Amino acid sequence: MKLFCIGKYGPYPKAGESCSCYVMTHNGKNIVIDLGCGALSKLLNMLPSRDIDALVLSHLHADHMGDALTLRYALEVDRKLGRRTEPLPVYLPAEPHAESSLLSSHAMMDAHFMTDGMRIQLFGMDVAFAEMPHPVPSFAMSFATGGRKLVYSGDTRDNGRIIEFAAGADLFVMEAALLEKDKAPAAPHVSAKDAGRIA
Ligand SMILES: [Zn+2]
Repeated sequence: MKLFCIGKYGPYPKAGESCSCYVMTHNGKNIVIDLGCGALSKLLNMLPSRDIDALVLSHLHADHMGDALTLRYALEVDRKLGRRTEPLPVYLPAEPHAESSLLSSHAMMDAHFMTDGMRIQLFGMDVAFAEMPHPVPSFAMSFATGGRKLVYSGDTRDNGRIIEFAAGADLFVMEAALLEKDKAPAAPHVSAKDAGRIA
């Protein structure tokens, strides 16, 4: 497994940068994890849309999925030009329905809805999902193969479950949207200090 960071900003991108987006490569396959606003343009520097093998969206906030809406158009062009014949497998939460239906209803997206505790096989990796506390359903995810494990938190409020879920990870990608001094008690994100403690 190799992980490339395409974008890390939220809730909107820094000028010339991108919101959350990662590419994981494994067994010659390219898995895009989150596709926030600004991400598609940067992603295409690395990977043509025809070479995306799966898309996994931790949750349906625009800074994690906004450019998945634009990716629909790229998939449609790829289909028309004969560069892609099958719909792209997309793993996403079912809620909020207004957002998920924009993706799941598209002919070139093969939607699979995540549930808490769900486990799947993806290109030879064991992938697991765990729902985290956030204003919309948000899923941490782990990818394991060959005795190695990568964990991505998605967005989450501070909670003990992420510690349990990330245990044993060889690489842990943890959100840290706030500085400790700026964090309100009910903040839907962890601080950088929290992220360090959790790690
Ligand atoms: Zn969020």
